[in-house]
Amino acid sequence: MPAAPRIACIALDRPLDRLFDYSIPEDLTLAPGQRVRVPFGRGSTIGVVVELASTSEVAPGRLRAIQEAPEAEPILGPRLLELLQFGARYYHHPLGEALLGALPPALRHGDPLPALTPETLWRMTPAGSQALADGDARGRRQQAVLRALAHPGSTPHDSPALDRATLAAATGLQLAPRELRAFAERGWLEAITPDPKQPPPPNTSDHTLTAEQRAAVDALTPDTGVPLLLEGVTGSGKTEVYLQMAERVLARGRQVLFLIPEIALTPQLSARIQQRFPGQVALLHSGLSEGERLRAWESARQGQRRIVVGTRSALFTPLPDLGLIIVDEEHDSAFKQQDGFRYNARDLAIKRGQLEQAAVVLGSATPTLETLHAATTGRYAHARLATRPDGSQPPAVEAIDTRVHTPDEGLTAPLLDAMQQTLAAGHQCFLLLNRRGFARVLACDACGWVAECPDCDARLTIHAHNPRAVCHLCGHQEPRPQRCPQCGEALAQRGLGTQRLEQALARHYPTTPLIRLDRDSIRHKGALEEALDRIRQLDAAIVVGTQMLAKGHDFPQVGLVGVIDVDQGLFSVDLRATETTLQLIVQAAGRAGRGSGGGRVLLQTGHPDHPLIRGLNAANYPAMVAPLLEERAAAEMPPHGHLALVRVEAGDAETTRRHAERVATHLRNAAAEGLRVLGPAPAPRHRVNRRFREQILLQSTQRGPLHRALTRARHAWQTDDLPRGTRIAIDIDPVSLA
Ligand code: ADP
Ligand code: ZN
Ligand code: ZN
Repeated sequence: MPAAPRIACIALDRPLDRLFDYSIPEDLTLAPGQRVRVPFGRGSTIGVVVELASTSEVAPGRLRAIQEAPEAEPILGPRLLELLQFGARYYHHPLGEALLGALPPALRHGDPLPALTPETLWRMTPAGSQALADGDARGRRQQAVLRALAHPGSTPHDSPALDRATLAAATGLQLAPRELRAFAERGWLEAITPDPKQPPPPNTSDHTLTAEQRAAVDALTPDTGVPLLLEGVTGSGKTEVYLQMAERVLARGRQVLFLIPEIALTPQLSARIQQRFPGQVALLHSGLSEGERLRAWESARQGQRRIVVGTRSALFTPLPDLGLIIVDEEHDSAFKQQDGFRYNARDLAIKRGQLEQAAVVLGSATPTLETLHAATTGRYAHARLATRPDGSQPPAVEAIDTRVHTPDEGLTAPLLDAMQQTLAAGHQCFLLLNRRGFARVLACDACGWVAECPDCDARLTIHAHNPRAVCHLCGHQEPRPQRCPQCGEALAQRGLGTQRLEQALARHYPTTPLIRLDRDSIRHKGALEEALDRIRQLDAAIVVGTQMLAKGHDFPQVGLVGVIDVDQGLFSVDLRATETTLQLIVQAAGRAGRGSGGGRVLLQTGHPDHPLIRGLNAANYPAMVAPLLEERAAAEMPPHGHLALVRVEAGDAETTRRHAERVATHLRNAAAEGLRVLGPAPAPRHRVNRRFREQILLQSTQRGPLHRALTRARHAWQTDDLPRGTRIAIDIDPVSLA
């Protein structure tokens, strides 16, 4: 009889490509997925059991024993464990880091699982609704809370019941229980304690689905393992389709995982989901405290909350009854983790769907070429929403030739005229400029000197109200020089950022309310919610912003969208820059002409006759990007080829180069037919924060050879003597080559 497995192979949060063997004490029964505390070095650490074994390569006398298991049962189920093992293999990342990184930080630090107490839900009373309507609720906080609880277009008793954390997220306010109780004492809110076994029923929809929307909901076939692309022009009502899909899946007793790129930027969306399914949503995002995150996670794991809405890392939430994964705005690069475990949550969502027999829906108005290709070749199912429920069309895109109409501080005369008309008609103008700051750079017109970061290959930017020059890459700041250090001439500010554009607009329209929306303007808590609220309340007629403006907002009064400068993005050499810029234009165009009927989109460019600009057509994205797909095919680039980047980073240029050469040699030795190893070459940003970067690009029409070569080469370079501070990172399916 074989000996009972008394050894556990345990994943630890260490950057090492291995599991660690420990003996299991007599009184402990363990299963894979269970959390344990083990001795490590002179201290102890938390790990997760991956396998049980009867023997170990470690000599019995040297095997250390597990100290304790915080829980009696696994916290990661077998399929989630399998997903993480797959992910670690596929992205060539140490399993321990991937696995422990998937747990809420509190569990990683050894905290116990929290006991779940039913949470009080807050609902607006008819009196609260009246107070909001009559203006009796005067304070900003009062209004924000009541508005978040108002269910648009329905009777007050339909008002959704939200918990405190959700209300805080929807309003951007820190809300103490005391404050909510005070509102209840005034008669505006009522407190409800739901029965966890009997979640409140979903609220009914305000809409009857259009035929296209219904067909899309019906296209959801569970358990086939085939993802569904929901491709719908902006404003076509994708969210309503998601909600009805979710309703069906919930009705069958399953859970729903709803992944979105960024919660903070789209508070409307998470509020809509919560309003539809009161008390059932666990919200997981980076703004939560460790305790809040742990409770939300645990409520999903126990099946108490039936819907998880979250960003990238929410993909790894244990859901015992998972039936549907929705990936909204699947094209957004926020789904790709850019450091450490560089997974793509969208791609792993598809894998998770297969493992757990859950349906997967990828939604976007501007799907990535990869997803589009999979759908048009039949690998994914494809549902299209070609029209908007209100019958409006995404506006046509008109180009303004900047060679004819010279921009002054970014603004051409035709754009200013169009703004004038739009404002006169009582509609809003959105101006998109994908560059923060005031002027881009400080330059000397006499000798060509430009202020640069001492630690990076980057120029310093100038911000209004900040006397220092700032590096956007590393955060370095220094006093702004007045004169050229090279020739002594006065320095000029060149280039244009959102802040400078804002000032120029304020000069053109001194009495028109104006808002700026970028990373700098929303830095303090609640600023974003306040800005979005002001835009919705028509409290701002002109909005200047970065790509944030183009996210899924649904503002009905936008009459004009102006894109200040697209040329840099459209004619860049980076793999995806063109695709991303086209997506940005179409998404931005999608903000115009909703509800108000007819909107205009003006694009300032020096290349109005370029085929990509002439081909811009927000109403038919697949047709518009067809030429790009052909280019990719010809170049054997994704989706017609597969890429991996290996980045080598060290403290000096010489070491980095030497080591990158070695890594490339390992890769060439391991490469089989059909795999190209390009480089090493200095990364486009060679120096960042005083460190140097070289990169090697792997390209192959098949995935197999690429992964095999990486696995073999990694074994080889792990035995190399790495100079101190040298780092090698692998990026599979990179979203950017920069
Ligand atoms: P998308 O996410 O596709 O850009 P949204 O889901 O934001 O679009 O919907 C756009 C607008 O259309 C919203 O104001 C929404 O309330 C409305 N809408 C959605 N479905 C319907 C419908 N079936 N009938 C009427 N209006 C609808
Ligand atoms: Zn000079
Ligand atoms: Zn820098």
